[in-house]
Amino acid sequence: MKKTDYKKMYEKIFKILGDLTPLRIDCGQLCEGACCKGDDETGMLLFPHEESDLEIRYTAADERLAICDGTCDRSKRPLSCRIFPFFPTIDDKGKVYVELDYRGRFICPMIEHYDKMNFNPAFLKAVKKVGKILVKDEECREFLHMRTGEIDFYHDVIIKD
Ligand code: SF4
Ligand code: SF4
Repeated sequence: MKKTDYKKMYEKIFKILGDLTPLRIDCGQLCEGACCKGDDETGMLLFPHEESDLEIRYTAADERLAICDGTCDRSKRPLSCRIFPFFPTIDDKGKVYVELDYRGRFICPMIEHYDKMNFNPAFLKAVKKVGKILVKDEECREFLHMRTGEIDFYHDVIIKD
């Protein structure tokens, strides 16, 4: 299998996402930027081989978290921040979907009120494209698979509530 040039891959991904956002307005107005109000114990999970200038901590599963103080250079923010509150989930055959990231259900008002949201179709299309690029790499596919399991778990919890 061809070796992935991760630097090139993330450059391409960031170009696809560009300045696209989930809504055509600044969704931070809905919640005063709740997803950027973590503390130094929380962080955004970096994708495999994704580089970041932010402080890196390791999870118990040896995955990397980028830690921020609620501010960052927007042009360098992690991929997780760029696609939140959506995620490119995959099925067992590697088919890519775009789902709300239910792991953030207690943070992001757009998740609870998704049916009232006028999501930006260009953003959703871009997240799908990103998923289709990631799924071609074995490590990234495994990463998407793990996250899909977590998102499904939180989705089930939200449905059972
Ligand atoms: S929590 Fe949701 S609505 Fe608020 S800024 Fe983050 S993505 Fe936008
Ligand atoms: S890295 Fe930037 S966009 Fe991401 S949570 Fe921190 S402040 Fe928000």
